[in-house]
Amino acid sequence: MQSPFAHSTCPLVGREYDEARNLAVSMRKQPDARSLLTADRAATLDRLAGLDRELTGMVEAAQGANADDEHDPEGATLAFEREHSAALAGHAREQLAAIDAALRRLDVGSYGTCVMCGAAIGGARLAARPAAATCITCAARPR
Ligand SMILES: [Zn+2]
Repeated sequence: MQSPFAHSTCPLVGREYDEARNLAVSMRKQPDARSLLTADRAATLDRLAGLDRELTGMVEAAQGANADDEHDPEGATLAFEREHSAALAGHAREQLAAIDAALRRLDVGSYGTCVMCGAAIGGARLAARPAAATCITCAARPR
């Protein structure tokens, strides 16, 4: 009869054990990704609300300032600032969409997998950018 310790010394079983343990560790990380994404989502919504308030204020200021003189140099500055804030708001909306997509991937279990090539997205990249949908290779590839 085989020794009950035969399996524990088998290098293959040892590797499987390590893989299972790594998988368990990465699965334990999932709630972290969700809380990161949720916090990121709240911060982005805040930023977006602030920008929207700013934009509304600028529109009102522009309506007041430019009523009598459309060549007012202040008007040009306001227009530039409005464009800048609108661009930031657009960025925040894109970020929000990326976060929502990442949360959906968490729900279906494909979070951390590159949507372009199917490779695993590196842990460091996900830590830095929890909403990342692509691996670093696909992100660097020109579209
Ligand atoms: Zn990829």
